[in-house]
Amino acid sequence: MPDEPNAPLPPPALAAVEQEIVRACNDAQRDRGAVTLIAVSKTFAADAIEPVIAAGQRAFGENRVQEAKAKWPPLTAAHPGLVLHLIGPLQSNKAKEAVALFDAIHSVDRASLCAALAREIAAQGRHPQLFVQINTGEEPQKAGIAPGDADAFIAACRRDYGLEISGLMCIPPVEDAPGPHFALTAKIASRNGLANLSMGMSADFATAIQFGATHVRVGSAIFGHR
Ligand SMILES: *Cc1c(COP(=O)(O)O)cnc(C)c1O
Repeated sequence: MPDEPNAPLPPPALAAVEQEIVRACNDAQRDRGAVTLIAVSKTFAADAIEPVIAAGQRAFGENRVQEAKAKWPPLTAAHPGLVLHLIGPLQSNKAKEAVALFDAIHSVDRASLCAALAREIAAQGRHPQLFVQINTGEEPQKAGIAPGDADAFIAACRRDYGLEISGLMCIPPVEDAPGPHFALTAKIASRNGLANLSMGMSADFATAIQFGATHVRVGSAIFGHR
């Protein structure tokens, strides 16, 4: 494929997701350019990712630092301009590796992590885009800040740790209709002056776009089942 003079056709699944994003943007009267598609490649190896890069996809999401560290350096070296998003939970002791590897971190959710990130951002001079994760369903097994604590936490990120917060991320409970969770996340973002909303996965990214998502995280609809 790389030897062919013409760009390869997008893999059909990526093209279908793109079409659905365009349709959702049209319905919501939003610009396609206002929504970043993050192709979530967790558990998939480089040979599955290469065709998606070849089709023009630039933003990718991973949920584990170790897996990303093993997989991405050769890909980013071979394809300048890729943007890597960490969408899974981050342990403070992996903040150093995360700041070195990722261009965005979607799982900022506690003070100890803020401290570790602030330290690494200063030490490395790298400034990944940061999202605070909101646990909109208040699920005990899920990471994220409770909605009622969000304003104070965002203020503390800024004031106590000097972190520039770019937006909010949420993962609605699987059994709920996602709309109210997206609406709540959008409302918290709006009153805190945050422009970016990381919300929507394979099953609900069109709904998320309706509610203002700026970043949709789509895995299985692009790569297949994990
Ligand atoms: C795996 C994952 C996704 C992608 O999920 P799909 O249903 O495969 O699209 C999105 N966000 C997070 C946080 C994930 O862990």
